[in-house]
Amino acid sequence: MNKNTQCVHGGSGGAIEVTGINTPVYTSTAYHYLDSDKQPYPRYFNTPNQDVVVAKLCALEQTEAGLLFGSGMAAISTTLFSLLSSGDHVVLQDQLYGGTFNLVMKEFERLGIRYTLAASDADSIVAAVRDDTRVIYLESPTNPLLTVVDLRSIATMAKRRGMVTVVDNTFASPINQNPSLLGIDLVIHSGTKYLAGHSDLSCGAVLGSQALVDRIRALALNFGGCLNAQDAVLLERSLKTLALRVERQTHNAAALAEFLGSLDAVSAVYYPGLPSHPSHSIARSQMNGYGAMLGFELADDAIDSLRFQRNLKLIAPVLSLGGVESSICAPAITSHRHLSPAQRADMGVRDGLLRLSVGIEDVADLQGDILQALEQ
Ligand code: PLP
Repeated sequence: MNKNTQCVHGGSGGAIEVTGINTPVYTSTAYHYLDSDKQPYPRYFNTPNQDVVVAKLCALEQTEAGLLFGSGMAAISTTLFSLLSSGDHVVLQDQLYGGTFNLVMKEFERLGIRYTLAASDADSIVAAVRDDTRVIYLESPTNPLLTVVDLRSIATMAKRRGMVTVVDNTFASPINQNPSLLGIDLVIHSGTKYLAGHSDLSCGAVLGSQALVDRIRALALNFGGCLNAQDAVLLERSLKTLALRVERQTHNAAALAEFLGSLDAVSAVYYPGLPSHPSHSIARSQMNGYGAMLGFELADDAIDSLRFQRNLKLIAPVLSLGGVESSICAPAITSHRHLSPAQRADMGVRDGLLRLSVGIEDVADLQGDILQALEQ
């Protein structure tokens, strides 16, 4: 071999036999095809690192198949556009994640996809179904008031009427809820949140039956929103501690919900684990744990909510959620800022409402941080 050839081929080419405990990173975007039925390629969603993570997610969500994307929105948009065509009707909740709401508002009308936004109770969702409804799209628990939707009864009704049900399970994570066991057809995650868990990785996933996932894959390889091998490996590593993290976060959230409820400076706490939360009994019947997200409002005569956030020393005012570090945001100026004050009031999202994503820290330190921020 001469120099140019040596640069490319010298020392490489043969399969290296090793037995390390971790999955090797297959950085290849080109794979031999002559002696193989499978033709791996990142945008075909079938490379070794993608396959390993999908298999782990399928085990966690109790599904047959799945696809990994570069963001939660790539998973959501690809899934919805593969299930819906011009003229079809879809029922969605009115309490949707802002990005999903935006997708519906900006793209569905343009493409002639009809939709109804319904309140989160099963009766309102069933009442919104029409003869041309193809899909019911849900989030549970919702952002930011943690309303829990009765997934079992909606799935039963949808199956009878031949509709596909989709649940964004980001807030619960597969540790606290498995929609497929409640009869839901497709489960979506913004993996950027709990699945990745360290606020350093953007990814998404859709999981369900082989037949439905194959249908989504057909569009996914045209849209091209796949996850690369390096990020797939990071996600695999994160998933190894998912149960440990989420169980700790859920435990901390339950303790903080009780603590916040005991403070005079706090006028309302929204956490489905509290018997006072309107969704408590549904949550108890369909979730394994109540999750690590909670909402609360500061009493009128307590501190202003912006100053309170600035005063926090451990809990970070940031836009995302689901990381090992506790974080906080005010939905009225973040996820719900595109709505008018009247629309927000209708949804129960007050200006002073704060959404807390509880991390894995020692709960006493989080309580101390909240107390010192209130006192400053
Ligand atoms: N679904 C929920 C519930 C979310 O909170 C988010 C992001 O905040 C998304 C979907 C979108 O995920 P991504 O930002 O990874 O595209």
